[in-house]
Amino acid sequence: MSTLNEKAILITGAAMGLGLAAAIEAASQGANLVMVDVNAVALDKAKAEVIESFPNVKVISIIADVSDETAVENYVNEALTAFGRIDGFYNNAGIEGGQTKLIDYDSELFEKVVGINLMGIQYGLRYVIPVMKKQGYGRIVNVSSVAGIHGVVDRAAYVATKHAVAGLTKVAAIEYAKDGIITNAIAPGFIYTPMVAEAFRIMNPENPKIAEIEASKRNPTRRLGMPGEVAKLVTFLLSDDCSYVNGQVIAVDGGQGSAFGPV
Ligand code: NAD
Repeated sequence: MSTLNEKAILITGAAMGLGLAAAIEAASQGANLVMVDVNAVALDKAKAEVIESFPNVKVISIIADVSDETAVENYVNEALTAFGRIDGFYNNAGIEGGQTKLIDYDSELFEKVVGINLMGIQYGLRYVIPVMKKQGYGRIVNVSSVAGIHGVVDRAAYVATKHAVAGLTKVAAIEYAKDGIITNAIAPGFIYTPMVAEAFRIMNPENPKIAEIEASKRNPTRRLGMPGEVAKLVTFLLSDDCSYVNGQVIAVDGGQGSAFGPV
């Protein structure tokens, strides 16, 4: 099995949750990292955590808002300055955007979700793919969601943008595989990250633990997923071993999306 040893891996939303878990897994395989996030304080902490556990890997961190095209162009340039190449790109940063019925969805907030979850992914592809084309090699993992496969009540903007990410993934995959670039998306279910902890607080402000227990009951595994479990799939998709899986939206949801009705 190939690992990510010596690969230059660029991760957005790397300060916590799925992004940080992938950074840790990639570093454990010897990857050098570019960690991008809008939250400067959390990013510093995350970078320190990775370096403390894996002192031999090179890590740079870049503060950037993925919804700002210039900031995206910048983080790509900084990654190139640091490592001279980008082997793998984990296009992960995203937000939930609250929970409200479609007709009540505040339009400004809807546009903000589109800016981060859709334009952020597109800008990343737009600036990373030319680098990978020149290299004749690249691996891209976009983060969609089970909400990119199914509808979810009260999440109109999230569902719309995550479906769009699935679409962008398929287009990137078919346009650039001939250039050595393999592109896939992951579609996580409920994975225990700060985003999901916040979602449980919105669902049941009095007792978020009850929302968590209910979500667990609806899953065939009777539990939530953990970020490290997603990271194992992500690092495979970013590796040389992922050579003929292309253009897929791969669910990591404990089987929940395979059910029709109660489990
Ligand atoms: P999280 O909130 O725990 O972490 C997201 C990270 O992205 C944070 O560090 C945050 O600062 C950063 N970020 C947010 N907006 C940004 C921006 N504009 N520019 C740069 N960085 C920004 O969330 P998570 O659960 O780790 O989610 C990561 C991705 O996985 C998201 O795209 C999310 O939609 C997706 N996802 C998560 C789950 C889940 O259950 N956790 C399920 C499906 C999909």
